[in-house]
Amino acid sequence: MIYYKTSEEIELIRQNCLLVSKTLALVASLIKPGVTGEYLDKKAEEFILDHGAKPGFKGYNDFPATLCISPNECVVHGIPAKKEFVDGDIVSVDCGVYHNDFYGDAAFTFALGEISSEVFDLLVATNTSLYKGIEMAKVGARIGDIGWAIQDYTEKTLGYGVVRELIGHGLGRNLHEKPEVPNYGRRGKGIKLKQGLVIAIEPMVNLGTKAVMTAQDGWTIVTKDKLQSAHFEHTIAVTKDGPDILSNHSFIFDEIKNNSEIVDISIKK
Ligand code: MG
Ligand code: MG
Repeated sequence: MIYYKTSEEIELIRQNCLLVSKTLALVASLIKPGVTGEYLDKKAEEFILDHGAKPGFKGYNDFPATLCISPNECVVHGIPAKKEFVDGDIVSVDCGVYHNDFYGDAAFTFALGEISSEVFDLLVATNTSLYKGIEMAKVGARIGDIGWAIQDYTEKTLGYGVVRELIGHGLGRNLHEKPEVPNYGRRGKGIKLKQGLVIAIEPMVNLGTKAVMTAQDGWTIVTKDKLQSAHFEHTIAVTKDGPDILSNHSFIFDEIKNNSEIVDISIKK
């Protein structure tokens, strides 16, 4: 069943999503070539605990870390590693927190140093598609409208591969609730969106094939052709005034502007 949230519950989720956004902003201030995923994970966990919340992913289905860190061909669910990032890496960082009986969830893909223009374009397109999906999340629209908007732009218009096996989700007292929010679909299909619905929208878009597989560690999802994949996520609430974005990537962009070793995808190349 779908749990629709009261405005008070939405505010609790917003607080959690803001903490997630600030944790990702901390990551934005620290990430650069030579840094490891393990280091970022430790800093993120300390930051979340210092704010009186708990990491939302650690222990969830036995996931071992606070952040999912998924570089390059890794799509999502990467385990923070000891390997140092290098110039040219793109790194998806996904973060969740749990506080006041609710979760918060958001993700961002960082680009380190010199990246190719085709990878830059992939990041910009995936981030843009997130907002194309969010725009559709209005009372009376259908869940398929969101996926359609993301797929139409990234796959039909730009020729990228939209991952089918992993999708967005409802969020509240559980990290993953009904409904499923695919990044592909047909207009006018699926459940009707009602006030109080809280969902995480998270396009995962591949430079090449849409096909993915699970890596040896049993967690990390990787592209079959080993080409790069990008991932951006917001948690949003459906309200009578339109979609209300509960997470806030502007904290991340503010830190990116101060970190000369990563690429600002908000500035045209
Ligand atoms: Mg997430
Ligand atoms: Mg999510």
